[in-house]
Amino acid sequence: MKSKISLANLPTKIEKLDRISAELGINLYIKRDDQTATEFSGNKIRKLEYALKEAIDTGCDTVITCGGIQSNHARATVAAAIKLGLKSAILLRTNEEPVVEGNYFLNKLMGADIRFCTFDEYRNSRGEIMEGIAREYKEKGHKAFIIPEGASFGIGVLGYYSCLEEIAIQEKQMGVTFNTIVVATGSGGTFAGLYLANKFHKYGKRIIGMAVCDDVEYFRNISYNISKDALEHIGESIDIEKEDMEINDRHVGIGYAISKKDELDFITDFARKEGVILDPVYTGKAMKGLYSEIMDKTIKNPGNVLFIHTGGLFGLFPKQGQFEF
Ligand SMILES: *Cc1c(COP(=O)(O)O)cnc(C)c1O
Repeated sequence: MKSKISLANLPTKIEKLDRISAELGINLYIKRDDQTATEFSGNKIRKLEYALKEAIDTGCDTVITCGGIQSNHARATVAAAIKLGLKSAILLRTNEEPVVEGNYFLNKLMGADIRFCTFDEYRNSRGEIMEGIAREYKEKGHKAFIIPEGASFGIGVLGYYSCLEEIAIQEKQMGVTFNTIVVATGSGGTFAGLYLANKFHKYGKRIIGMAVCDDVEYFRNISYNISKDALEHIGESIDIEKEDMEINDRHVGIGYAISKKDELDFITDFARKEGVILDPVYTGKAMKGLYSEIMDKTIKNPGNVLFIHTGGLFGLFPKQGQFEF
């Protein structure tokens, strides 16, 4: 297993959600990966702990990554790079002149080298654009390490592979077994890490990736490919199958980072019941999906359920005008 640089506040707490549990008639717990840090809060830092170690070990002094205009991953990468004395450049996707708010504001505040591309360019050629930025840095005497979207690549997967091992230790300490683990899925790396550790250690848990964009096939392909890569970094070989990767794409809604009124109402209701703030892009959709499927018995006999709160708070503020109270 590759080593990492320790940046996040780990282990993150696991708390029981008392009122939602009572409503659903189950035991629902939440793992506070939204509290991994402030500047690099959320799930991406667990992947970056491994990715940035790899960057430094390969002699790089610059990291380049990409994401949506409100990317939590880009913001976490910029903050972590500063912390480690690395340079960073981020490629952000937008078709319009962006409003300076949320994660994008924080990236400007931290003085990030920000480049923009359209949705089409992002879809078709973000890899080449990042290679181009890397060449620019090379001409200035730097060596850049490119981290793909969401740090969802082989090395990044190790972050949530270790997270499931962390959960296994917490289960022993708490005297609770989590039978079902649910996480929002946007670029696949978080789900893949959990899937792989569950498979490798034979924990026998049901791991559900709640998609916030795209569909089952898309995430099974990504998770499969990056899990294969991750196994090389772990130095093990096990059989993995797309068919036993449980991706649920029924709660994507109208699209990535686009909110419906009932999703925002759910976030409001949840905050008032539990004092926990979900985000509109990832955890709000995923928790709403979990809640509704337990309520209507689509998910039957889930046992003790653990929802991983993957962060995203800064992405809530740009949406505040859409909430109706
Ligand atoms: C990126 C992100 C996710 C999704 O994780 P992936 O590994 O990209 O699937 C979930 N929640 C938040 C808040 C995120 O920023």
